[in-house]
Amino acid sequence: MSFLEYAPAPESTALLNLQSEYGLFINGEFTAGSDPTFSTISPATEKHIATIASASTGDVDAAVAAARAAYDSTWSRLSGRDRGKYLFRIARLVQERARELAVAESLDNGKPIKESRDVDVPLVAAWFFYYAGWADKLDHAGLGANPRALGVAAQVIPWNFPLLMLAWKIAPALAAGNTVVLKPAETTPLTALLFAEIVQQAGLPAGVVNIITGAGATGRALVNHPDVNKVAFTGSTSVGREIARSLAGTPKKLTLELGGKGANIVFDDAPIDQAVEGIVRGIFFNQGHVCCAGSRLLVQENIHDEVVERLKVRMATLRVGDPLDKNTDVGAINSAEQLQRIRELSDIGDAEGAERWSPACELPSDGFWFAPTIFTNVATSSRIARDEIFGPVLSILTFRTPAEAIAKANNTPYGLSAGIWSDKGSKILAVADKLRAGVIWANTFNQFDPASPFGGYKESGYGREGGKQGLTAYLAPAAKATAAARIAPAVKAVSAAKAKSASAAKGGKK
Ligand code: NAD
Repeated sequence: MSFLEYAPAPESTALLNLQSEYGLFINGEFTAGSDPTFSTISPATEKHIATIASASTGDVDAAVAAARAAYDSTWSRLSGRDRGKYLFRIARLVQERARELAVAESLDNGKPIKESRDVDVPLVAAWFFYYAGWADKLDHAGLGANPRALGVAAQVIPWNFPLLMLAWKIAPALAAGNTVVLKPAETTPLTALLFAEIVQQAGLPAGVVNIITGAGATGRALVNHPDVNKVAFTGSTSVGREIARSLAGTPKKLTLELGGKGANIVFDDAPIDQAVEGIVRGIFFNQGHVCCAGSRLLVQENIHDEVVERLKVRMATLRVGDPLDKNTDVGAINSAEQLQRIRELSDIGDAEGAERWSPACELPSDGFWFAPTIFTNVATSSRIARDEIFGPVLSILTFRTPAEAIAKANNTPYGLSAGIWSDKGSKILAVADKLRAGVIWANTFNQFDPASPFGGYKESGYGREGGKQGLTAYLAPAAKATAAARIAPAVKAVSAAKAKSASAAKGGKK
């Protein structure tokens, strides 16, 4: 079978106005970091993009101090309505600079421009618009009247959706009245630094948002800083576990969004072509660098061969290559380390007796690449059925009955996402009810909406991001007024009214 050949359609980088060097964004200004700088590169070409500052513990202290001062002096005193105005302004600036942000994201992360342009950046704007609307309605967040902000939030994010994860963290935190210090991942700092420019453009009071760059040590110093009130972490389960341990016994509030090994369950009554699209979207979207990826396909045994056959035909049409080309479906792997991990786990799959298949595709010679891959004949006990590969690799298993599908889907230490494909609504609801996953898609996959809470069970973490639930992670219930405190204003009001009527009566006599 031959396919149409596409002419290259590269998105221009001319609209980028990048600095050669970026400092830390602390107290509204860019300042040099104290630790040695590092380089951020394009994973598609391995070419240097910019030199990035690395925050020392002293720099972390300065960023937290700036956030604390901004919280005490301005942000905690603003009305929700005024905080909302700043968030609306940020959302509009994201829209205005959307094309530039999408190009920078694809350059730094390696994801296809059609994803950063049509998914990541529009969702970033949507997240800020959504939480802007909440800022003056916190009394309706389910925590009683006048819930309080927590104070300074320390936020650490991964490299797979750099700007989107930033929005998931910063938008609810600011709406709820907290100030933030955020650390992006060391391989993808670029769009967070462009976001710092947007914060300046939006005229946000200095110190409300601080962005510090650096590697794991910077993240560790930030989450362990004694003056932060809230820690929000998205990343690997191993680092999440370390953070949970180090925060245990402190008053800091913690939310963890960690790894996953999502089951995508296809029943024999599903529309197969539609399911194949969902399988592709579930595992090859963003090169499979997705915590909630549908990385385990559970397909009913009697349709296994047909599904695999059609999936192979569909996979042969995927265009792997230059992330900035508008035709590209699968871009570059984010880093050499991640590529190494994907290769290692896939080799384990071979060694364990699973059958590997990839479509014929030419991979560029420079940069980090891995062809879209499926494994069939995968045993439930296999490492590739259990470990998060975090790459474009799908493990295919079979089942015979709904009960077996549920048991296999839940047979994982994770519990982040799942998908169900069936023509029968009642079957979808019955199965969904028994799956231990924070988000379950029915006849679709990898759909995100700011109004919909997202988060995990078990080793996928705890807490929810998105929706009203995402606000509660940044709010403390209003302190209960004591009986005396509740009565005092009423007594005062009555005596003031009495005094007023007495003086009016006196005046009347004059
Ligand atoms: P990672 O845990 O290695 O790094 C995540 C972030 O934590 C980075 O900014 C890193 O610098 C920082 N960090 C590293 N060590 C730290 C420490 N000891 N203390 C504090 N911060 C530290 O993860 P990664 O490889 O960048 O990201 C991939 C992982 O993220 C995957 O497991 C994926 O499933 C998960 N993820 C989860 C979600 C979710 O919402 N559940 C979303 C995206 C990614």
